Amino acid sequence: MSECCICKKCLGVTGDEGQGFDVAKIRQDFPILNRRIHQDKPLAYLDNAATTQKPSVVVCALCDYYQICNANVHRSLHLLADEATQHFEEARRRVVKFIHAHSEREVIYTRGTTESINLAAYSWGRRHIQAGDEIILTEMEHHSNLVPWQILAKERNAVLRFIPVLEDGTLDLEAYRRLLNPKVKLVGVVHISNVLGTVNPIQEIIADAHRAGALVLVDGAQSVPHMPIDVQALDCDFLAFSGHKMMAPTGVGVLYGKESVLEIMDPFMGGGEMINKVTLEGSTWADLPLKFEAGTPHISGAIGLGAAVNYLMGIGMEQVEKYEQELTHYALQKLTPIPGLKIYGRAPERSGAISFILDDVHPHDLAQFVDQAGVAIRAGHMCAQPLMRKLGVPAVSRASLYIYNLPCEIDQLVDAILEAKEYFSHGS
Ligand code: PLP
Repeated sequence: MSECCICKKCLGVTGDEGQGFDVAKIRQDFPILNRRIHQDKPLAYLDNAATTQKPSVVVCALCDYYQICNANVHRSLHLLADEATQHFEEARRRVVKFIHAHSEREVIYTRGTTESINLAAYSWGRRHIQAGDEIILTEMEHHSNLVPWQILAKERNAVLRFIPVLEDGTLDLEAYRRLLNPKVKLVGVVHISNVLGTVNPIQEIIADAHRAGALVLVDGAQSVPHMPIDVQALDCDFLAFSGHKMMAPTGVGVLYGKESVLEIMDPFMGGGEMINKVTLEGSTWADLPLKFEAGTPHISGAIGLGAAVNYLMGIGMEQVEKYEQELTHYALQKLTPIPGLKIYGRAPERSGAISFILDDVHPHDLAQFVDQAGVAIRAGHMCAQPLMRKLGVPAVSRASLYIYNLPCEIDQLVDAILEAKEYFSHGS
């Protein structure tokens, strides 16, 4: 088995010498990647769609907050509180820049993609969805962008419709256009599928929805960490994403919403921070974005998110996307010829989330086997049970790549899969 190293081959694939991109240097920022596990095997962490590793600058940002200026935000008048608030709001400004939002008023801190979508379904949906209205989703949605709308539809007697997934893992856009009609109030679509890796043509989907008078929520959990995103150019109404999938801590994420849309939404949760004036009889709401941020927020998480955004912008999101495309191409080239390995998702535009099944080996068994070889991948239904049903499988194994991964880690996965094939073919 190949050692995890910055070998000649790795440098060849990454080789953007002279353009300031250096994967070896990036890896130095992630001490966890140097771990050796299971009898001294080099760790190949290929479970980035589940959560990514955190660079030292993010960990340091958390430490600095707790060790230097720990205080609550937006409340007290002392120095520490002022510093904490400044860092918290500076992080928000970085996110604004990162996704090209119009202003801080459009960036709401949440616990992650799941909470962001629930916020939209609760606050926007309960105000705007009436009996008989329609919501269009896709068959490839993560449960996070399905269940909140199911709850809402049930409560409001609204109807959910689904854009079918075609054989190659792309969306049936003809069927989508046929679904659009004046009763459709919202289209909810995942930008990049966490199972198939498909990059959906959201610009087109958004334009069509708007022509039909519907708003669009984009689940950006698997896209925002991996490619440049410009919400103004996309013209999406909502964009949800999670910090922990882009090098930030767990428990923090963002709901972007157009100011004009957020303005006419009711709060999600009530409590401190989100009010303007409170009497025993009633309350008025704080301005955006605080109207949607009830209670003490995840202050260190937000500061960590700001540091992660800074780190990614330092590399450059075009560069992140380009490198990951090269790596994905390499991975597909290596995995596709393995006899008995079926890869799910063959969209021409695809990301580095690669799901597969090996012969009749259960995906859990395969994931455990490759773990023994030092390779971390995920197995299961990937929180996309309807898609699994469509694919006719109960579960898949998934390798997912990020900016710090190396071709030799993909080789390590391939070697481990070949060993698993041999092992399980003997009925052990
Ligand atoms: N949407 C997609 C496409 C995802 O891949 C995930 C997580 O894997 C989510 C939503 C939910 O993200 P979180 O658990 O961070 O809320």
